Amino acid sequence: MTKVNKNFENLVPSYLFAEIAKRVNDFAKANPDKKVIRLGIGDVTLPLAPVVVEAMKKGCDELGVKETFKGYPDYEGYGFLREAISGYYKSFGAEVSADEILVNDGAKSDAGNIGDIFSEDNVVLVTDPVYPVYVDSNIMAGRKILYADGTEENGFCAMPDSSVKADIIYLCSPNNPTGACYTKEQLKAWVDYANANNALIIYDAAYEAFITEDNIPRSIMQIEGAKTCAIEMCSLSKTAGFTGTRCGYTVIPKELELDGTNIYKLWYRRLSTKFNGVSYPVQCAAAAVFTEEGQKQIKENIAYYQENAKIIAKTMDELGIKYTGGVNSPYIWLKCPDNMGSWEFFDYLLNNIYVVGTPGEGFGKNGAGWFRLTSFGDRENTIEAMERLKGLMKK
Ligand code: PLP
Repeated sequence: MTKVNKNFENLVPSYLFAEIAKRVNDFAKANPDKKVIRLGIGDVTLPLAPVVVEAMKKGCDELGVKETFKGYPDYEGYGFLREAISGYYKSFGAEVSADEILVNDGAKSDAGNIGDIFSEDNVVLVTDPVYPVYVDSNIMAGRKILYADGTEENGFCAMPDSSVKADIIYLCSPNNPTGACYTKEQLKAWVDYANANNALIIYDAAYEAFITEDNIPRSIMQIEGAKTCAIEMCSLSKTAGFTGTRCGYTVIPKELELDGTNIYKLWYRRLSTKFNGVSYPVQCAAAAVFTEEGQKQIKENIAYYQENAKIIAKTMDELGIKYTGGVNSPYIWLKCPDNMGSWEFFDYLLNNIYVVGTPGEGFGKNGAGWFRLTSFGDRENTIEAMERLKGLMKK
């Protein structure tokens, strides 16, 4: 008899985005004359940079010619892309060699699958609020999960507690959903905790390209001691608009050994069994991101979103609404005014000013009473949404 993985029964049904869509659709149907502005999405809206599109086309052309045709790519990604990524790390002072980089189809796959190589009896620690993939993938595997609280008091930067024993720790900085970022000193405390406990940090740097401040590390590999306790996941989704194109990368230091086992080798064994690589044209497109011209072009797009974030943050300042994020992150995480609950605030904005955000409680218990706005929309709509919000709050 076939038996299913009963751990799936322990997943909390994820109603968040379905419920948002339902409420927005109901509102739009009942109010066809109202222009709804969506600031809830975590997807980008600007097109790929021209240099990226050109590189992808060139890659396609090569596949159409016998002499340059390519079949299966290397499991870990082509050397030309891994060298380019290694050079990128060097540009901000992190030593990551090309043979420590594994190219993938986006950070979600590795974030969700990395647990394959770890025993089920590891204790997992996540910070709350949390990107749900870390939690759900570990529930599916039947692991015990502990939560480190991100709160208003600690600026949503939960810190290690030496009395808590965790084996696998997920950190995300700049954080989704809170936009909060760990400083180098704070990350060092996590690295020290992990090394002292023979624990692993899985560091999600998907939003590193949005960092503007010097003391905020772009990579955990900038922190002394990280190479003996951390792996890093990064993505071109938000960096270069690859949400639909799909490309990311994972860094596993060659010297990382846990439980007497080399982690790069173990992950490579898993990868080569279950994954056949990222397509050549996409890897060509990804490599173009790391060229001088590519960096210039993608930074123009990032600057556009950063300006949107500034507009939202400035509005919060004007209205005296507390928030984190916005400076080094595309997300603004705000405290719902007048002690409103996050769904209450959602309905309040939708019904009064037709603006859509994301209720914080969808990201964990510490998200209750908080709300996420994103800067991935277009400028005109972002400005209009903030004008409407000012009008509403000043009433
Ligand atoms: N990590 C975080 C924190 C994210 O917010 C996202 C996407 O929203 C991802 C990873 C996944 O990104 P990708 O598109 O590379 O799978």
